[in-house]
Amino acid sequence: MAKIALSNAHCQKAQGAQYHDERTEWLYAQQVNAVARDWLEKLGHEVFLIEQGGSAREDLNKSVREINQLGVDCAVENHLNGSSDKKATYGSECICYPGSKSGRMLAADIMDCFRYLPFKQHGVTERRDLGFLRATNCPAVITEPFFITHEHENRFLDLDRGIEVVGNLIAEGILTWLTRQGGLHG
Ligand SMILES: [Zn+2]
Repeated sequence: MAKIALSNAHCQKAQGAQYHDERTEWLYAQQVNAVARDWLEKLGHEVFLIEQGGSAREDLNKSVREINQLGVDCAVENHLNGSSDKKATYGSECICYPGSKSGRMLAADIMDCFRYLPFKQHGVTERRDLGFLRATNCPAVITEPFFITHEHENRFLDLDRGIEVVGNLIAEGILTWLTRQGGLHG
């Protein structure tokens, strides 16, 4: 059994990218994390839902500290992408910290599941500037399955089971990675 942290994008006070008022990354992430948690727990893994306390830097550090204290095997923070270019910018990507071999593998395994989504595949990208990726002491990945600001892509949220599909794909990617780790903790 593995210990997995699923972190919520942003917070209630600053909900991240949005489409109109009612669709925000924060709301999406709560739902998608609940789906992924259910699936991972059904398979016997221990899942921790991590909330960010606010938009300030201390609050980001708080969620990273919490993850580090839990001693999890991996941490995944689920976002949706946003852009002021509402038509042209679109597609799926997963982000890891440069040089983190296992983080990159986790990102690649989740990205591999995202190919079932009807969006352009940008693959795994690396970023040095994100505290969640840099300061966590376990393999960590940020998922961006599509652009919430894109007028067609955000319609995926209208689908009856859109959120469920994304949540299950994220869980599947994590499970594939765990299997590669050699059936972590039996
Ligand atoms: Zn975000």
